[in-house]
Amino acid sequence: MDSLDLIQELAETFGVAGFEEDIRALLLRKLEGRVDRVEVDTLGNILAYRRGKSRKRLLLDAHMDEVGLVVSHVDAHGFLRVVPVGGWDPRILPGTPVQLRPEPGRYLYGVIGTAPPHVLTPEDRKKPVDFPDLFVDIGVGSREEAEALGVVPGTPLVPYVPARRLGPDLLMAKALDDRLGCALILQLLDRLTEPTPYDLVLSFSVSEELGLRGARVLVAQTQPDVALAIEGTGAADIPGVPEEKCPSRFRRGPVITRLDKSIVVPHRMVQALARAAEEAGVPYQFKKPIFGGTNAGAIHLSGKGVLAGVVSVPARYIHSPVSVVYRPDFDHTLQLVETFVRRIDRYLEE
Ligand SMILES: [Zn+2]
Repeated sequence: MDSLDLIQELAETFGVAGFEEDIRALLLRKLEGRVDRVEVDTLGNILAYRRGKSRKRLLLDAHMDEVGLVVSHVDAHGFLRVVPVGGWDPRILPGTPVQLRPEPGRYLYGVIGTAPPHVLTPEDRKKPVDFPDLFVDIGVGSREEAEALGVVPGTPLVPYVPARRLGPDLLMAKALDDRLGCALILQLLDRLTEPTPYDLVLSFSVSEELGLRGARVLVAQTQPDVALAIEGTGAADIPGVPEEKCPSRFRRGPVITRLDKSIVVPHRMVQALARAAEEAGVPYQFKKPIFGGTNAGAIHLSGKGVLAGVVSVPARYIHSPVSVVYRPDFDHTLQLVETFVRRIDRYLEE
């Protein structure tokens, strides 16, 4: 399957943190026939196993959840108030279409409403927008009508802009953080035709965006020797962002993390990932400190401690209603990870 088609299918599927049923069902279908064994743990993480040469065990993690919103109140006229699930900038939300999910597999649509400019005073227009100012219109006239549709406090929703190609090599879609990682692991499984030096555990984890929650229980269940978090990270080489605040850049290949807010990656792991990029013949870049955190943060502190690293696909506008990825950045990250997985014994044991 074409990489952008797979990314688009995963990205368009609903999976707000804590409400991952729909994306989990899709991932379980995609894993059929690609691994030796699959299970879903108590928290909802998917754990998939593929036997290698059993020298040691490597955990590859991507989080299946995405940032979203949850209904906090339905007023007498049927308008919804919302609170964030994960990191959002409320200024970018007014006027955005939304997809609500009253129950797994059932969707409704609406819009984050705003007062028309005609009724605002010049002072009002300069005021920053915050969550208490936002409301969602789902086209009903009363609380009872909203309830009849299953929309109640606790219903999750996501700002929703349908995916589109921007030319042959760019995909604009929501939730590239971290459906890019999910797509990468699925495509990696197709490319690994020979047994790998280490046994593989693939985790598609839940609730990363709520503070790395799902990842906290991965190590107790899977006992990895080494772990790699595969992420979509913010490429901010855009107007208005000074170079020193730009964590990663578009069209520069996979992003290797030296440190972020959740982990300082051990030198030998950083070296191993850089060597894998060089031997794969792909460009790579290092993420600028010290933005964000990933599941590697939770994983490396679990059990007796785990050697962990992070490699990411750069994506523009993550944590907004649409993000953008450049196909060669994804493909080069896949090639880096494939080389790392195939030669991990050389990189970490010699
Ligand atoms: Zn992420």
